[in-house]
Amino acid sequence: MSKKALITGITGQDGAYLSAFLLDKGYEVYGMVRRSSHAGVADHRLRWLGIAGDVRLVDCNLLDAAALIRLVAEVKPDEVYNLAAQSFVATSWAQPSLTGQVTALGALNVLEAVRTAAPEARFYQASSSEMYGLIQEPVQSEQTPFYPRSPYAVAKLFAHWATVNYRESFSLHASSGILFNHESPLRGIEFVTRKVTDGVARIKLGLSTELALGNIDAKRDWGHAKDYVRAMWLMLQQDVADDYVVATGRTTTVRDMCAIAFAHVDLKMEDHLRIDPALYRPAEVEVLLGNPAKAKEKLGWTPEIGLELLIAEMVDADLARLAKR
Ligand code: NDP
Ligand code: GDP
Repeated sequence: MSKKALITGITGQDGAYLSAFLLDKGYEVYGMVRRSSHAGVADHRLRWLGIAGDVRLVDCNLLDAAALIRLVAEVKPDEVYNLAAQSFVATSWAQPSLTGQVTALGALNVLEAVRTAAPEARFYQASSSEMYGLIQEPVQSEQTPFYPRSPYAVAKLFAHWATVNYRESFSLHASSGILFNHESPLRGIEFVTRKVTDGVARIKLGLSTELALGNIDAKRDWGHAKDYVRAMWLMLQQDVADDYVVATGRTTTVRDMCAIAFAHVDLKMEDHLRIDPALYRPAEVEVLLGNPAKAKEKLGWTPEIGLELLIAEMVDADLARLAKR
């Protein structure tokens, strides 16, 4: 009999790639979708990957604890991946309370639903390198103390510790993946990589002349979402639940990532880049660099797609999207 996976956040970047990965492995994939007035476009990422017809979408919301319990009782999943969140750091200052409710308490609601309705299910929590924030060690591992720098990171830290606590309190098979930034052509347009690749494509096609960014000295450890969803699944295949850093071990400035994108289409970054101070954040995470040694040793996981290939794929996808319009 095929295994059942329930994914919250299936309409997001990771939800789409994880669905494709699990379908490939023969899973029955259930995806939780929140009601909106734009039902026709909610599954655009699943359609991009050609799998919209292969997953079962179920109506629910992270904020509705009772409905979540009913959903988990009905689906009886073998694995639950909690990917849903208000996931954009900048928005978390504008909507801190919502971010806390969805990203922190929403995760607790899913843990409660699993504990109540499917305690044998394996649970994955989408934790974030943003929890390291004002970094306490130059290279961050599972042992590095956290120092969150945004309402988003504070909320993720709550969800991370709730996952650890439910594992220890109720013996749930609950794992937390501390994932560093990961991108793809399906990344939300508000995140810096996709903003850059879309902007570069627009300039190349003559639709725009400049690209405005904030702090281009910030450094991130960027990987490909396709590689990172494999690590999520691997965590749930282990006999014992645990926490893992998932990263590439290479960090790059926003400036250099941007230069890679411009160079891919033979343009000079200096001719088009404008710094907009309004895009600076109230508190910045200046640098993130992960040590994925534990994931490599225990899960046998290594990333396969490097930054240059990732950015090239994203620019090409944005060129194709814009040309189609
Ligand atoms: P996205 O922003 O692309 O997707 C977020 C998902 O959450 C969407 O499906 C969204 O639905 C859903 N969602 C938001 N609010 C609710 C709600 N109240 N009820 C139900 N669903 C809701 O994120 P990613 O795919 O990039 O990331 C997946 C997870 O991993 C997130 O939790 C993110 O914070 C975390 N993470 C991501 C990293 C990255 O670099 N991508 C790094 C580390 C952690 P809708 O389509 O309706 O908006
Ligand atoms: P984050 O690491 O989850 O906050 O991912 P983002 O892609 O949103 O931001 C990565 C880094 O890029 C942060 O340090 C931002 O301050 C920086 N950055 C600089 N300019 C921009 C911009 O215009 N948009 C975004 N989203 N980030 C920017």
